[in-house]
Amino acid sequence: MNYRHAYHAGNGADVLKHVALVALLEHLCKKTAPFCYLDTHAGRGMYPLGAPETQRAGEFRDGIAKLLGDGEGAPAAVVRYLEVVRGLGTEDGALVRYPGSPALALSLLRPADRAVLVEMHHGEATALRSLTRTDSRAQVHERDGHEALLALIPPKEKRGVVLIDPPYEDPVEFTRLEATILAACHRWSTGIFAVWYPIKQGDAALRFVTRMAASGLRRQLLIELTHEQDDLPGGLNGSGLLVINPPYQFDQAMRNCLPWLHRHLSHEGRGRNRVIWSVPE
Ligand code: SAM
Repeated sequence: MNYRHAYHAGNGADVLKHVALVALLEHLCKKTAPFCYLDTHAGRGMYPLGAPETQRAGEFRDGIAKLLGDGEGAPAAVVRYLEVVRGLGTEDGALVRYPGSPALALSLLRPADRAVLVEMHHGEATALRSLTRTDSRAQVHERDGHEALLALIPPKEKRGVVLIDPPYEDPVEFTRLEATILAACHRWSTGIFAVWYPIKQGDAALRFVTRMAASGLRRQLLIELTHEQDDLPGGLNGSGLLVINPPYQFDQAMRNCLPWLHRHLSHEGRGRNRVIWSVPE
């Protein structure tokens, strides 16, 4: 386990994932009944932008930093995301830290909601425990996210969202993920599942979404945003979110966001964006 999210915090992939996450959580907050947020690969929760690894990689400069300067005409879900990020990360008018998914979620949860945060790396889990220690809504589990998900669902609240955000260091991650998602959706058929995946040279992402579409699970929405051509060799050219069981009108909210995000995050207009049902309602 070499992956450290501090190198990538606030990049374009985080922006896409977190815009969608904020929109999903806000939807769940519309009903008074409590819900559960389950994060299978939670990370440390908060990323100081001045940390040496974050500065060295500098990925946030190509992500969140591009949006903060120019929020002109931003769609509603982006405006809300930026408000939450600014609220958690700004000091003296400047963004000094980028909130990870646990911090974003905890800032939106109500007193009776619950956050189950799973992180396998000891250092990251320790930092996350320290960040959330005074928050009785949060439980941190230092264990494998796939195993924890299957052990902990369905939650007693019966409603909620699962974020599955692995580092994809392991060559069999996609295959393992498919098995986990299928088992999880069978255990909790009304849960909302949001699964982040990288788009790089090669067809790994396409094969994943194609196999998921053939799995028999209904209501699968794909949200994809790339800042480069898909087949550029090397690193990340963009990313996607597979959302299973998205709430009503979430697809339209994301359709309203993607062209604006693409304009701000793409490299000289390259890349693409799309929101499509890979398996319809
Ligand atoms: N979800 C976080 C966010 O949006 O702020 C970022 C998570 S980062 C992409 C992936 C995290 O998964 C890393 O912190 C890594 O240590 C952790 N990890 C790696 N393998 C894991 C596993 N099998 N189970 C749980 N966590 C794991």
